[in-house]
Amino acid sequence: MKTLFVSSEIYPYAKSGGLADVAHSLPESLANQIEVYSIMPLYKLIDKKKFGIKSTELKFEYWLAGVSYEFEIFMTTQNRYQLFLYNDILCDKEDLYGTSEGSYSNNALRFGLFSYGVLESMIRLNLGVSTIHINDWQSSLIALLAKERYKLSQKIVLTIHNLAYQGIFDKSIMETLEIDWSDCFKADRFEYFDNVNFLKSGIFYSDEITTVSPTYADEIQTPLFGNDLDEILKENSHKLTGILNGISYRAFNPKRDKSLYKKFAIKNFQDKTVNKEELLKELGLKNETKERPLFAFIGRFTSQKGIELLIESLSLFKDLEANMVILGSGEEEYNKVFRSLQNRYDNIHIEIGYDESLSRKIYAGADFLMMPSIFEPCGLNQMIAMRYGTMPIVAKTGGLKDTVFDFSDVDENFDKGVGITYQEQNVFWFLHALAKALSLYGNRKKFRKICKNNMKVDNSWKHLAKEYLKIYSS
Ligand code: ADP
Repeated sequence: MKTLFVSSEIYPYAKSGGLADVAHSLPESLANQIEVYSIMPLYKLIDKKKFGIKSTELKFEYWLAGVSYEFEIFMTTQNRYQLFLYNDILCDKEDLYGTSEGSYSNNALRFGLFSYGVLESMIRLNLGVSTIHINDWQSSLIALLAKERYKLSQKIVLTIHNLAYQGIFDKSIMETLEIDWSDCFKADRFEYFDNVNFLKSGIFYSDEITTVSPTYADEIQTPLFGNDLDEILKENSHKLTGILNGISYRAFNPKRDKSLYKKFAIKNFQDKTVNKEELLKELGLKNETKERPLFAFIGRFTSQKGIELLIESLSLFKDLEANMVILGSGEEEYNKVFRSLQNRYDNIHIEIGYDESLSRKIYAGADFLMMPSIFEPCGLNQMIAMRYGTMPIVAKTGGLKDTVFDFSDVDENFDKGVGITYQEQNVFWFLHALAKALSLYGNRKKFRKICKNNMKVDNSWKHLAKEYLKIYSS
């Protein structure tokens, strides 16, 4: 069996969030069983030299509505299954999708071209795949083109990583991309309140749809989490499955992680403390007593991640015998608030930006990782945290609900992730969860035992990738 895995971002080449991690680790795991080609845009920001990315010399032009677009296919010498697609409109931007001020205005054309380019590459390279696995709105149009324009026989599998991003654009893109009005501009397909919706076309035209946790699969069929697509998802529920994401146990491994101050494993768990001490020093946080717990937040500054709750909690957190580190960036309004708070409290360190190496130091050095998400399709941070012996504190939503169970509800032999969970998403219950964390931290023996058990939990792709194989071959 051969599959083509299409993603707008893949770690380590370009990453804006969890999609890149999954687009790296899922194909990596599937490759133990089947042949998997991956393809992504060759953005300007990708370091071609570092990753040994070279042209395949396969170039082609494609005409749409009287305009010619040029494409070139690249690959990396490190992995012959990893392909990159270059087109100047798609790739010559400073970032992937936009700036903190908003999305790029030509994203419909950019990812429309990506979708055409991927199908043309597949055909011209004669890849011989039986499944095309597309991800999120950026590659969703592939389903529509494959069925309506190319009349392909390959099975199309769409994974929804986050329903909040749908790729909604003005319908004039129909002309630019030569999409047939009478077949496609329909309420159950591409049309969306007199605009077009890329993700919606993927939902209609795919043969199978997966999303990244069983709870999220249920949630997105309700008005509260459905982002106006709940009815369409309900209509297509016969082809919808929730499969939890895993993380790469190779890429996230405290035993081998070069970013850490000191590598560690369960048997030398005490070395996690070295990571905490060094991190506190680096961040300039109080460490006269390393007995203070360190709470961390890592993520995009967007309302989804519960940023309002986090901000509201800071004025109370400042009086606690505890430290906090926040690493993230995102929407400008939040960047601004965090900038204004940066040097206000001496037990709270705020780092604005995207920093892979610092994030790993935090996963290793923190005691608790906070995820006050309003919704969370799967969430990877809680799994990474557990792998590094850090206890997650999570809102009971989406994949967080499926992967983290409250310590007071389970016994010692429980073999899934354990942390602190809370149901009501408001600042009272979030602070209540932090208070619970402080009290558990007081019982250091119990706390450490849970953290060590969490390091043994299997959140790898080993078993989960098989669920995808079943879908490819069903
Ligand atoms: P999402 O895809 O919604 O952003 P996920 O939990 O699925 O959230 O994945 C987030 C991934 O991005 C994790 O690997 C996390 O460590 C990483 N990440 C998020 N923000 C930052 C940041 N500011 N610096 C470094 N890594 C980050």
